[in-house]
Amino acid sequence: MQKLDYARPVTTGAAIATLREAGFGARVMAGGTTLYDLMKLDVETPQRIIDINAIEELSRLDTSGDTLEFGALVRMADAAEDPRLKAEFPILSEALWKAASQQLRNMASLGGNLLQRTRCAYFRHGEPFACNKRNPGSGCAALEGANRNHAIFGGSEACIATYPGDFAVALLAMDAVVDIEGPGGTRTLPLADLHLLPGDTPDVETALDPGELISAIRVADPVGRASTYHKIRDRESYAFAMVSAGVALRIEEGRIADARISLGGVATTPWRAGDAERHLLGLRLTPETAAEAGRIAFEGARTQTHNAFKTDLGARTVADALMIAGEKA
Ligand SMILES: Cc1cc2nc3c(=O)[nH]c(=O)nc-3n(C[C@H](O)[C@H](O)[C@H](O)COP(=O)(O)OP(=O)(O)OC[C@H]3O[C@@H](n4cnc5c(N)ncnc54)[C@H](O)[C@@H]3O)c2cc1C
Ligand code: SF4
Repeated sequence: MQKLDYARPVTTGAAIATLREAGFGARVMAGGTTLYDLMKLDVETPQRIIDINAIEELSRLDTSGDTLEFGALVRMADAAEDPRLKAEFPILSEALWKAASQQLRNMASLGGNLLQRTRCAYFRHGEPFACNKRNPGSGCAALEGANRNHAIFGGSEACIATYPGDFAVALLAMDAVVDIEGPGGTRTLPLADLHLLPGDTPDVETALDPGELISAIRVADPVGRASTYHKIRDRESYAFAMVSAGVALRIEEGRIADARISLGGVATTPWRAGDAERHLLGLRLTPETAAEAGRIAFEGARTQTHNAFKTDLGARTVADALMIAGEKA
């Protein structure tokens, strides 16, 4: 049996100091819904758990001002229920509502949600399967194996695992930033830069240094937009996205003045469909323009043996999401 230390600091500063002291063997624990899961599978084998649940400042939720502020410890269920998010930022509340189950959302934190790890079965179940993310240099069983759920954007020869979360996809469309605390103080990172492409090092998944933790997520973009998070999955609830689209639109005098489109379930990181966004500017939203934007969003997809269907499904998901958002404009 492996020895496991447990610490429960009450300030962010104390958590950083404990993280620094413990080094690579330490893991931050928020809701524990991913961390404990991965410990049971021997994917995560920490020597020290730093439970951040007693740090009150990380639970701040303030959506009243021009900047939406979410402490890293805010529970998914609380943010999903927030009246302003539901009314003015449905893309954010829908992404949370459509994730996991009510029990999990009651427990799971927003910071932990951003940092959840892939659901690739080879990664989770380990030996005898090769997995560069779990055992760097061992290969990738998914490339020649069951890859129906895998990525069609952002993959490499080393890894094609999808990023599984929903909230980060919605936040990406809203140009969110994350506040990061570490030994050197606080830094702020665009959410777009938090998750790293796998390249040759799929085991390195985020831009966080080992001694850092996420303290907050902010959306400094108060412009109201018609928005939605459209999630397609194998069953209607309690399932990860096969394909998802976060869409936010601003329509002025009948024409699209601003379009945001982000994609989930299809890429190794939350994915922005910039070409499709630019294509829509100045156009009227019709089923035809929406379908064309969907097609553009999936240009350049690199499919595998079992997941070519994601290209058409994804294009239709984006088109449907645009029309759903457009009806709210
Ligand atoms: C059956 C099931 C279905 C699910 N379905 C979905 C779904 O459809 N959509 C979806 O988006 N998610 C889904 N999830 C994932 C779930 O949302 C995550 O497990 C949860 O959000 C993680 O939050 P947590 O607070 O429990 O994180 P933890 O398990 O505590 O931590 C997760 C990871 O983040 C790190 N961490 C946590 N907080 C911080 C911080 N502040 N700073 C730095 N590191 C931190 C931990 O060290 C760990 O590596 C599902 C999970 C399960 C078990
Ligand atoms: S896709 Fe990535 S996580 Fe899955 S087996 Fe290959 S290397 Fe491992």
